[in-house]
Formats: sequence, structure tokens, C-alpha cells
Amino acid sequence: MKISETLEKRATLSFEVFPPKDDGSLAPLEETLRKLAGYKPDFVSITYGAGGTNVGRSVDVCRMALGMGHAVMPHFTCIGNTRDGIASFIGPYLDLGIENLLLLRGDLPEGWTGTRGDFTHASELIAFFEESYPGLCLAAAAYPEVHIESQTAEEDVRYLRLKQDLGASFFLTQLCHDVTAYERFRERLAAAGVTIPVVIGLMPILSRAGTIRMSLSNGVSIPADLAAICGRYEKDEESFRKAGMEFTVGLIERYIAAGIDGLHLYTLNRHEDVSTILDSIDLIGFRKEK
Ligand code: FAD
Repeated sequence: MKISETLEKRATLSFEVFPPKDDGSLAPLEETLRKLAGYKPDFVSITYGAGGTNVGRSVDVCRMALGMGHAVMPHFTCIGNTRDGIASFIGPYLDLGIENLLLLRGDLPEGWTGTRGDFTHASELIAFFEESYPGLCLAAAAYPEVHIESQTAEEDVRYLRLKQDLGASFFLTQLCHDVTAYERFRERLAAAGVTIPVVIGLMPILSRAGTIRMSLSNGVSIPADLAAICGRYEKDEESFRKAGMEFTVGLIERYIAAGIDGLHLYTLNRHEDVSTILDSIDLIGFRKEK
């Protein structure tokens, strides 16, 4: 089922997973996907190594998730991809009956010596897929606190509008710990005529170092309440984790109250913490039909 069709009716719940490294076993991820299936997610998204690394594993993970009844949305990036090359990459996904794709630019992997390929920006990939593989539900990335390379919020939103105009059916966002920043983002989108749904992506706050690293590398702010937790539990990972889980539940509740079209959790391939968080949320109310 196309995710856009569900988004027309109600808010979605979904998860992000990543394929294991080349020689890694799929078994732990299989266990995660089985456990998460209990929450009846609307889809599972599967990351893609920019430059096409691990493509085979991505298809394997899609197959495995589909076999458990999950709808899937593989990610796909521009980096190094050519128009001709895409035909051979995309075949195995289409053979699996995949209807949803998240189309991204990607970032040049460290040590990358190849070219960027035929596409410079995600919008070009969206236009290409819309023309060459019509009928798919195409999603695109968005950044409530602005992409780190954008000079201004206005420029950032202009290119989001372009992604919509070229065929994106919904946005999936970068993590954002600040609901007020998200609300300002929605105002900018509305002013720019962006009307497609926005699914908010969140990473459970579990590790102090991970939270700081992810926030800094993506230009995502750490609001005062989260900064206080980072400061208070600098040397106590266990207490940080407990406070981080409570922060995450509170954040999701504030997002739901603010009005989001969907909630997407970056699971880091683990189900225990995600389950604890979701068990504290009124998911039935959240996913009630409009
Ligand atoms: P773009 O839309 O191309 O935007 C990048 C920058 O260029 C922005 O500043 C934008 O404003 C600007 N821009 C956009 N269009 C134009 C244009 N036409 N002309 C000039 N400037 C323009 N990376 C991976 O490698 N694999 C993954 O699986 C993956 N999954 C992700 C999932 C989500 C939900 C998100 C938010 C990001 C993900 N990323 C992934 C990271 C992503 O590839 C990077 O954030 C990348 O830097 C930007 O990707 P994009 O698709 O937003 O690029």
C-alpha cells in the first residue's frame, strides 16, 4: 500500500532500520522487526549507504520485512548513481512489489573518489523517478531546523517546495528535539505553499554522546531541557538513559499535541527501548481516522 494513501486518512507510525554490515547476520534485525511488528507500523524504512554500499543487504532486509507483513520504504540516494545504473539497482526492489521510496541526495562518503553521478540534488532524482517509474509513492527528506548547508530558511523551504512540485508525496524529517522549531517550520512550509504531509523523524534519547554527536553533525539544536539532562548526567550513563527515555516520551506527546502527520522512530535496529517508549504513548488515539 502506498504510504500517501494512509496519510490521507490518519497519522502513521513507522520505524527506520539499517542493513547490517556485509558479513553481519540478519538475525538480530529479524528479531527487532518481529517485535516491532506488534505495534502494527504503517511502514519500515531501510537506510541506503550513499554511493551504493550495502545495496544487496538493503534488498535482503526489504524482502525479510515484507515476509513479516511490514510495508517497506527503502531509501535511495543520488551519490554516484547514473540514470542507466538506476535501472539495474531498482529492478530487485520493484520485483519485490515495493511501492514507496525515500529519495535523497546522500552525503559523499569519506574517501569517496568517484563522481557524484548524474544527479546533484534529491529533487532531480525525484523528477527522474516520477518520469521513469510512475505510480510509486515518493518521499523526500526535510529539516525542521534547516539543512546544514542551506544559507537561509527561505532558501531551504524553496527547495522543499520544488521536491513537492516534482512529485514528492510526503516529507520525512531529520530529528528535531524542539517542538517550537517544528511549529515554525510548518508555518514556513504553509507560507511557501507546501501542502504534502510531514512525518516527524525522532531518535530516542538513549546515549549522551550519541545525542550530542547526532545533533552537532546535523545542525540540530539541543533545547534547554535536553541540555540540562546532558549536563546533569555527564558521568552517569544509566541515569542519562532513564531521563532521556522520559524526555523522548514527553517530546512525542508534545509533537502529537502540536499535530503531526506521522511519527517515525529511528530504532538503531533495537526494539527494547522503542517498545518502552511506545508503550507509554496513546497510539490508538494518535492513529485514529480523521
Ligand atoms: P537535497 O534535497 O539535495 O538538499 C541538500 C542541500 O541542497 C540543502 O541545503 C538544500 O536546500 C539544497 N538544495 C536542494 N535542492 C537544490 C537545488 N535544486 N539547487 C540548489 N540547492 C538545492 N543519507 C544516506 O546516505 N542514506 C540514507 O539512507 C539517508 N537517510 C536519511 C533519512 C532522513 C529522514 C533524512 C532527513 C536524511 C537521510 N540521509 C541519508 C541524509 C541525507 O542524505 C543528507 O541529509 C543530505 O545532506 C541531504 O539530503 P537531501 O535529500 O535532503 O538533499
